[in-house]
Amino acid sequence: MPELPEVEVTRLSFADRIAGAVITDLRMGKPLRWPLGVEARSLVGQCIHGVRRRGKYLLLDLDDGLLLLHLGMSGSLNFAPHQPSPGTHDHMDLQTDRGTLRLHDPRRFGAVVWAPSEASPQAHKLLARLGVEPLNGGFEAAAFHAALRQRKAAIKQVLLVGDIVVGVGNIYASEALFMAGIRPTVRACKVSRPRADRLHAAIIDVLTRAVRQGGSSLRDFVSAEGKTGYFQLEAAVYGRAGQPCRVCGTPIRSILQGQRSTFYCPTCQKN
Ligand SMILES: [Zn+2]
Repeated sequence: MPELPEVEVTRLSFADRIAGAVITDLRMGKPLRWPLGVEARSLVGQCIHGVRRRGKYLLLDLDDGLLLLHLGMSGSLNFAPHQPSPGTHDHMDLQTDRGTLRLHDPRRFGAVVWAPSEASPQAHKLLARLGVEPLNGGFEAAAFHAALRQRKAAIKQVLLVGDIVVGVGNIYASEALFMAGIRPTVRACKVSRPRADRLHAAIIDVLTRAVRQGGSSLRDFVSAEGKTGYFQLEAAVYGRAGQPCRVCGTPIRSILQGQRSTFYCPTCQKN
């Protein structure tokens, strides 16, 4: 599943090239998670002013309103001057005078939704519950700790909800908690200020490295033939159950939390 770093790398892969382009056609394929919410032809002739990201949504600012794009479970976007004929799993072609932005999404949990503004009900229902962005300077350690103190659930579960800080999906939650030395099962409200500070720094670090790594493998990531190639960090704990911890050698443990696998080192990560 594409996580925040993949979505950010996707944004970086076409934002500069599409900014200023004029929409010449919008072809939608099979139904996605939600309907477009506007007649496709009403978008023709509008300029795409830029591409922003909020959580895992990409926001394309138009003359009139915006398009919200989500990659769902299996989606990928590719912007190219010339695209081959759409295949079975290509469900959106946004054609512009500079090229076509294509959504390839075999499982169709992705979304393309038009909204009149970011404050409109259509956009609000998708964006309102998102926490702060971890990578733009608005994510503060003191506020993070204060928010954790209000939650009784396990720290990893609280991170996955995404309403305090967005983008800390399953892989990155396990990795950040390892870097911070915090057991994933600890109640969020029990995390002390110094430990919250370490976790805050770890979240920024792990997501920044993922974006950078994705940037370097950008060409593979956005390759046209539906090879999604979602990248993964050189993981310290994620997916390494039974293998020795890279710090202390203790075998990494795996547990289930809310049906998701969690990986941790029982020696390095304290209750
Ligand atoms: Zn260890």
